[in-house]
Amino acid sequence: MHSDSIVSIRNLNYYVGAKPLRQQILFDINVEVKPREIVIMTGPSGSGKTTLLTLIGGLRSVQEGSLKFLNQELRGANEKQLVQVRRHIGYIFQAHNLLEFLTARQNVQMSLELWKDIPEQEAKAKAEEVLEAVQLGDKIDLHPQKLSGGQKQRVAIARALVSSPRLVLADEPTAALDGKTGRTVVELMQRLAKEQGSALLLVTHDNRILDIADRIINMEDGHLVSKMLTKK
Ligand code: ADP
Ligand code: MG
Repeated sequence: MHSDSIVSIRNLNYYVGAKPLRQQILFDINVEVKPREIVIMTGPSGSGKTTLLTLIGGLRSVQEGSLKFLNQELRGANEKQLVQVRRHIGYIFQAHNLLEFLTARQNVQMSLELWKDIPEQEAKAKAEEVLEAVQLGDKIDLHPQKLSGGQKQRVAIARALVSSPRLVLADEPTAALDGKTGRTVVELMQRLAKEQGSALLLVTHDNRILDIADRIINMEDGHLVSKMLTKK
């Protein structure tokens, strides 16, 4: 069956540990992410949010059920296929994971050159343009240690979005930031995702940013328990 979903998950289960201590962490997950959609996932700590995100991102293997990314089945995919999948995904984690010995621009540019065969001058210009879009135009030549927490997370956003990925996965990207900075960072992420044409799946505990979502899903004890539409 053809579908235009970015992510399509059917009856997904996930387990950790070896028998007889095997423990089920995700239970019968069904979810879709459409092109350009912004989905926020909430839920208590330990409920399985990161596990689901890493499965979608091709960072761990699908065991049971179906998980399709751009219509490609990831269950049974080999490492080479997973590497292809990761090219279309931008990742933003709680910690920024920037390389300390590179400047803001070099961190962003490297992500672009890693995946796309584009000339250095073009990559440089594109990196600068995206850093300007996250309001860091005056910080492009600084190393991470010279930047605040919010500024570093904005570089991480620029790095994740510079290659216009089909999907951005963000795992509690504002957890280390104060409320106001977190809000600014998320609004920039939302704007950039819309501009680059990327879908965004964002995990957060922060109730104050739920309004940026097109849709909110809720994880509890490994079950996706509710889906409510916030916007038409
Ligand atoms: P969340 O991101 O919602 O806080 P996680 O997906 O990180 O939750 O974890 C869900 C549950 O799975 C937790 O109980 C965690 O301890 C457990 N878990 C995750 N990965 C492993 C693993 N490799 N081995 C054992 N337990 C794990
Ligand atoms: Mg987590």
